[in-house]
Amino acid sequence: MADSFDVIVIGGGPAGYPAAIRAGQNKLTVACIDEWKNRDGSPAFGGTCLNAGCIPSKALLESSELFHRALHEFATHGLKLEGVGFDVATMQKRKAAIVRQSTQGILTLFKGAGVTPLTGHGRLLAGRKVEVTGHDGAKRVLEARHVVLASGSEPTPLRGVAFDGERIVDSWGALEFTEVPKRLCVIGAGVIGLELGSVWRRLGAETVILEALEQFLPIADGQVAKEAARHFKKQGLDIRLGAKVAGAEIRPDGIHVSYTDAKGAQALIVDRLVVAIGRRPFTTDLLGEGTGVTLDERGFIKVDDHCRTAAPDVWAVGDCVRGPMLAHKGKEEGVTVADRIAGLYGEVNYRTIPSVIYTAPEIAWVGQTEEQVKAAGRPYKTGSFPFAASGRARAMEAGAGFCKIVADAATDEILGIHVIGPMAGELIAEAVLAMEYSASTEDLQRTIHAHPTLSEAMHEAALAADKRAIDIPNR
Ligand code: FAD
Ligand code: AMP
Repeated sequence: MADSFDVIVIGGGPAGYPAAIRAGQNKLTVACIDEWKNRDGSPAFGGTCLNAGCIPSKALLESSELFHRALHEFATHGLKLEGVGFDVATMQKRKAAIVRQSTQGILTLFKGAGVTPLTGHGRLLAGRKVEVTGHDGAKRVLEARHVVLASGSEPTPLRGVAFDGERIVDSWGALEFTEVPKRLCVIGAGVIGLELGSVWRRLGAETVILEALEQFLPIADGQVAKEAARHFKKQGLDIRLGAKVAGAEIRPDGIHVSYTDAKGAQALIVDRLVVAIGRRPFTTDLLGEGTGVTLDERGFIKVDDHCRTAAPDVWAVGDCVRGPMLAHKGKEEGVTVADRIAGLYGEVNYRTIPSVIYTAPEIAWVGQTEEQVKAAGRPYKTGSFPFAASGRARAMEAGAGFCKIVADAATDEILGIHVIGPMAGELIAEAVLAMEYSASTEDLQRTIHAHPTLSEAMHEAALAADKRAIDIPNR
């Protein structure tokens, strides 16, 4: 194997592996180093997203949602199912197979693009040298014209709550439960906490989510958060706001979780505790002496708008740099950097990164919330369309939620689109494209949407922004 490459990528998650593939497509010689090891000790590319994040969580969300619907919705369709039950072992096996297929697929893609995969730890040294320590401990030093750091993130631990890997776990542990906990507590009502809480709640766990903030889901549009809270409550998710967790202790009768809220000190006894209070950049032993790469006060690798670090020809992408910790944000940064290295054009539009929460109803948005537009003092208008008025949604027994558009009152430019409802994560793609092209609500109004589809909700919301909706009364 060569010991000199045009590009070396450290980290093979959704930021690093696309960077490597695009570099290969650009006819550059490239190696991608990844140290991920699964619980059975086997190495796997794909990082957090494929092994312990996006993909396994969506597999379990799908299985648990199907069970929930079989129990609570099928009868409405006139479907009679007897003895509906589930087997966690089969669910987990299915999930593991999906993960394996995805992670092994990366190696096939690498082969196709001419990427050299290396398993082990990568450490940047001065002068764009990279020390690789294989899982067997063997070390070698490689050289590169460009290095892309894509070392990702790790769960933020909570002081006073020690992981034991079985009963007190992080998000990865919560995706590996082999049985449904009777009493579950999730700390943190962020995206990950809500998704994991939903999985186990649907399968029958009494689920309490403790959230330090007084406001529920402040990252989402206020109306969306309100609607979501209503549905989650109905589903039996016990979300306690203003609840700051102080510590947890494993005792014979369960895990004692202590927290404080407006009423003072509180306690809760549960069988499993999931800490989902956010993620922090992971850069452990990534940077040797004199690399010139700098970190900010929160531990993120400092980069400019084009993902350039302070060191020449060293780039950084994904969760280890500023911006939302999302797989698609990292992927876009990765391919953009690989294009720039090849002398091609590349730019990430940070204003149009969609967010999705895969709960039921699903939540997705792009751009600014109504609150953000209001706070900016910009004159605006909004248009909303409830899925209850969508023929397709009603036929799907999925009339909960709405689609909402926020637009500039003077120019009609779309500033944000917010969806809570069926397939919100798929519907938002149209909104992202619209905003990418700086569309106006009129552009969406004049775009033909197939009938009957869920996407008509977006069309009608755009019409509603000018009080011209057809399928709902305009107010
Ligand atoms: P990572 O995926 O963390 O990958 C980094 C890789 O680099 C890892 O394999 C790591 O082992 C390796 N590495 C680190 N340092 C070194 C080194 N020095 N040498 C060699 N290898 C190294 N995002 C979404 O967009 N959609 C979702 O639905 C979603 N769901 C999620 C659900 C959960 C439960 C979690 C935990 C996260 C979820 N995320 C989701 C977030 C998403 O997983 C991350 O944003 C994404 O994985 C970041 O990609 P990355 O490549 O920057 O880092
Ligand atoms: P996210 O960053 O989207 O994954 O969300 C993590 C959530 O955890 C945030 O809403 C935080 O407010 C919340 N959080 C952080 N620390 C605590 C704590 N000690 N107790 C309860 N919730 C917390």
